[in-house]
Amino acid sequence: AKLEQKKMSEAPAERPPVVVVMGHIDHGKSTLLDYIRKTSIAENEAGGITQHIGAYEAIHKDNEGKEHHITFLDTPGHAAFAGIRSRSASVADVAILVVSAEDGVKPQTLEALACIKKCGIPFIVAINKIDKPNADVEKTKNNLVENEIYLEGYGGDVPWTAISAKTGQGINELLDLVLLAAKIGGLKSESDKAVLGIIIEVNHDAKRGSSATAIIKEGVLQKNDYVVAENAYSPLRTMENFRAEPLGEARPGQPVRIIGWHGEPRIGVELRVVKTKREAWKMAENFLVESKTNTATEKNSEGTAVAPIVIKADVAGSLEAIVHELEKIKEEKLKIKILASGVGEITEGDIKTAATASERAIIVGFNVGIDASAKAAAERLGVQIESFDIIYKLSEWLETFVAARRPKVTTEEMTGRAKILKIFSKNKDKQIIGGRVEEGILIPGAIVKILRRETEIGRGKIRGLQQQKATITEAKKDTEFGALVEAKTEIVAGDRLEAFALVTK
Ligand code: GDP
Repeated sequence: AKLEQKKMSEAPAERPPVVVVMGHIDHGKSTLLDYIRKTSIAENEAGGITQHIGAYEAIHKDNEGKEHHITFLDTPGHAAFAGIRSRSASVADVAILVVSAEDGVKPQTLEALACIKKCGIPFIVAINKIDKPNADVEKTKNNLVENEIYLEGYGGDVPWTAISAKTGQGINELLDLVLLAAKIGGLKSESDKAVLGIIIEVNHDAKRGSSATAIIKEGVLQKNDYVVAENAYSPLRTMENFRAEPLGEARPGQPVRIIGWHGEPRIGVELRVVKTKREAWKMAENFLVESKTNTATEKNSEGTAVAPIVIKADVAGSLEAIVHELEKIKEEKLKIKILASGVGEITEGDIKTAATASERAIIVGFNVGIDASAKAAAERLGVQIESFDIIYKLSEWLETFVAARRPKVTTEEMTGRAKILKIFSKNKDKQIIGGRVEEGILIPGAIVKILRRETEIGRGKIRGLQQQKATITEAKKDTEFGALVEAKTEIVAGDRLEAFALVTK
């Protein structure tokens, strides 16, 4: 208790900003998060052992040597829920938009930007990979401006900095900018308010049961209270920080791992605090009753599936190669979890490990045999074993395995995009516009999003298309057209229309 008290009195008055790193794939988000994790976690803490709970706290020293805490979200798929607003807050307070100085702005850069704008949080552009010979910072800046990301010093006010997530160049400055953005945003440690927390990660552990990480945005979680997240609830008996150290309380800006859930909380869901188990249980029960009549809450679902596996290989070298293959899998909706791995033949112990996992676990063997008792146990417990002797065969199998286990999601895929050049007339919700196709094609009947500065402001339907006064069945890329669009939202010149198809994968 003494230790806890000491921690409380030392708690910083300013609250750590919660930062999400976004951007196109391969532009260096993970590398940046790894670099900051490695270099900015307090060295004085014993061992420096951290656990993966979906977020970590970094310490950054400003020019005057003053220490500031910054919380980074590092949940796979965080980009998917960074935009979730819960009541009045989004999970993140500040976003870092990573753009590679080799590649410039890419489709996911713009998607990330739209998401950032939607949640209304400040962002900083980090132009990454400047250590690479092909890096061109000037070109990247121009490219950003062309895409309406108006950088400071280039006619806008978006702070930016050039970095290398590999060498660490510029990262200090980047963290300064993060703190500045948070300060301008007016982050206060609203610890006197009612608790507002959002679940960012959920884990199963055979021994400890369900645990979940929440980011606290307002208020303070106190030990021995109860939290409720929809139909799941937990006593606040075991709370840990990302270093697996016990916490007596969790303050705004802090990630906290809560262990001991009844039921399974979902990612993106808000936490509520009650004083007794009875209240917690009642609230969770009520949610089930209400949710039968209200399906709107389904929207928050992250739907990440976990595919646990046990790996056995002949030698350490092949084990390493297999783990490497697994790391190559980048699936937002599926997490491959290595339950256990080792060298030697498949034993009964391995089968038991696989059988007791909360999801169906698979055993992958590479150049190893199965002992007789293991074979019998596998049959008895219904555990699947896959054996390989060539790595590429294993990779091939992994691909089909991932495809089969990945939850199906329906997404909107852009099929055509046009810039509005002129508005000819508007009669109620029928608008006649002139535009130019920038990408793909437009066809009559297409449902379109109306975008203003990359943010969707409404939707409409293309009722008819014309070119040189003749009716056409499609407007191709780089051609100008006239269209009758039916939409409640008033379209203005400079807006974009984006047609899309619903694709289930
Ligand atoms: P993510 O998909 O955005 O998370 O991208 P990653 O962090 O996985 O990076 C993609 C690739 O770029 C990896 O091979 C990284 O090692 C490399 N990379 C990322 N940042 C840098 C950088 O600043 N310099 C160099 N040279 N390589 C980088």
